[in-house]
Amino acid sequence: MSEFIPFAVPEISNEEINEVVDTLRSGWITTGPKVKQFESDFQSFIGSGVEAIAVNSATAGLHLALEALGVGEGDEVIIPSLTFTATAEVARYLGADIRVVDIDSDTLNIDIEAIRGAITLKTKVIMPVHYAGLSCNMDEILSLAEEFDLKVVEDAAHALPTTYRGDMIGALKSDIAVFSFYANKTMTTGEGGMVVTRNSDLAKRMKIMRLHGIDRDAFDRFQSKKPAWYYEVVAPGFKYNMTDIAAAMGIHQLKKLPGFLDRRQYLAKRYFDSLVDLPLTLPMDDMDGGSHSWHLFVIRVQDNSPVNRDELIQILSDQGIGSSVHYVPLHRQPYWRDKYQLTIDMFPITDKAYQAMLSIPLYTAMSDEQQDRVIQVLREALT
Ligand SMILES: *Cc1c(COP(=O)(O)O)cnc(C)c1O
Repeated sequence: MSEFIPFAVPEISNEEINEVVDTLRSGWITTGPKVKQFESDFQSFIGSGVEAIAVNSATAGLHLALEALGVGEGDEVIIPSLTFTATAEVARYLGADIRVVDIDSDTLNIDIEAIRGAITLKTKVIMPVHYAGLSCNMDEILSLAEEFDLKVVEDAAHALPTTYRGDMIGALKSDIAVFSFYANKTMTTGEGGMVVTRNSDLAKRMKIMRLHGIDRDAFDRFQSKKPAWYYEVVAPGFKYNMTDIAAAMGIHQLKKLPGFLDRRQYLAKRYFDSLVDLPLTLPMDDMDGGSHSWHLFVIRVQDNSPVNRDELIQILSDQGIGSSVHYVPLHRQPYWRDKYQLTIDMFPITDKAYQAMLSIPLYTAMSDEQQDRVIQVLREALT
């Protein structure tokens, strides 16, 4: 049998390896000059004068974002059911509740009217997820937020780089956006994340809470005669800082990101061209002047297909091809289902999509020949 084709593989080469080795030999391996450089490079990449704050995961970043916005007990955060549990759990860290809503069947992104229907006097934040790397309708979400005086935190874990009507995700008028550098994302630091905001008060709070609630500026600016060992703790903060070892990878992954995007777009186009006549619903590309990051290529098996989703995953697996499902929706997860009495009939669109969907291999190091094998197995299974 030919070699196994996984669903995702990171592309790491000598640049990252040499920079990590340089960090290991430098004597400084935790947060230091490499993190500073990575944050500065990331700010330039997103543009629009954002501040970038490196953290050890996107989950940590989402937690810092909600904390900085003052989310706490009695508050509600609106999120889609079709997401990873991290989007939801951070609200619970702070004692807040989530309101889970359905998605749009074409884009698989959060449904705007469902958001409107879920807004209560307790609602504080809308957390859209740019599913698979396709931007949500941010104009509508931002105008809802303005109408009801809500905050917007974008879970941008899939959206690097994604543009919405020509603007980078991260540079829009939301309060905070959070990117992930988990191993299977569009660029990686092993584990890691980046928080961006244009609000300097929020940035300051998140920087303090990222590292034990230590306020560096308090003594840097006003008490500069204090010795270097002195620090002040102003809150019970977290331990969410990124290491220089991770940032060493990030610096080079970020440089390669435009090339990575080209390769992902090329592979996505090849999938579209060769799967179009099969009984599949192919993912939606951006039709609104924006661009898709192609973090995931999510196909849905149609009702008239000769095999169902589970059978198709088994056929792929038997042929040495990895795939995955993004995600088992929140309304089917025991904790969220029981905590908020979520039932399948409350999420008809998400549930139907979930039962039909699978993510097929898409990664920058995938060769045309490997992709041809995936296409061939799909064609044989579905015709
Ligand atoms: C990956 C992911 C996260 C979490 O990212 P980490 O960096 O692993 O914490 C959050 N939300 C979504 C939608 C994700 O895909």
